[in-house]
Amino acid sequence: MIKISSLVHKYTIWQDENIKSEKTALDGISLDIPSGQFLAILGPNGSGKSTLAKHLNALLLPNEGTVWIEGKDTGAKEKLWEIRSQVGMVFQNPDNQIIGTSVEEDVAFGPENKNIESEKIRKIVRNVLLKVGLWSKRKSSPMKLSGGQKQKLAIADALASNPGCLVLDEPTAMLDPASRKEVIKIAHELNQKEKMTIVLITHHTDEVVDADRIILMKEGEIVGDGTPEDIFGDIQLLQDVKMDIPPVVELGMRLKRRGIELDTPILREQDM
Ligand code: ADP
Repeated sequence: MIKISSLVHKYTIWQDENIKSEKTALDGISLDIPSGQFLAILGPNGSGKSTLAKHLNALLLPNEGTVWIEGKDTGAKEKLWEIRSQVGMVFQNPDNQIIGTSVEEDVAFGPENKNIESEKIRKIVRNVLLKVGLWSKRKSSPMKLSGGQKQKLAIADALASNPGCLVLDEPTAMLDPASRKEVIKIAHELNQKEKMTIVLITHHTDEVVDADRIILMKEGEIVGDGTPEDIFGDIQLLQDVKMDIPPVVELGMRLKRRGIELDTPILREQDM
């Protein structure tokens, strides 16, 4: 369970040794994310999505307000490493997360740093590489992987610390449509089979139609919070935050509101 209360984040912009200005990136966010939820965060560039994501594993700490991860207050600055291993992070560019000379070494790096015994590390590596479909590539150099495979490796790296929650910050931004689908499928599998909490930040509205819940951000605030039907059904709200509405998704949502069910996997298939 993640609980956020009145969170404010301000970036300080320095010039030489003087504060030039402050930018309020999060302006009083309150949000509860129950364990096991698939939450998608949508919003235009600069609306605060990445800043919020970084608060979810204490990469950033609140200026005001409180973030509790499994009951631990990140602002108390205690057990920060424990908090960070409970929430795995995956970013847009997997190259920034990959450090090993082989796929299996890369995944082993995190557990090795925690002095876990080698037999247990081998099991962890096998387990997470099977989950992301990279077991057959375990001896390969990460640099020889495709973009989609690299992103799967970044997910495997995050899974190696056995987190209860995975935060994916625009994980598909650099991927081709086929790889995008695969990465989103892995996120859904982790949510459904492992009951993992998923927080997915994306620009692609078609990737969030199967989320349990969507929050919509604008200028550091949450301006929409509901099911995909609620959010995509509110065309005025989407226009206010200047979010694109893929025509096929819009059509699907409209039909759904009139009681006509469309199969969302088909919708997704057509849209990608
Ligand atoms: P999003 O992920 O929705 O694009 P961000 O969380 O990256 O939004 O940014 C929110 C706001 O904070 C933007 O106005 C952005 O320019 C500003 N910002 C982000 N990172 C920094 C930083 N390191 N220093 C100063 N301002 C920043």
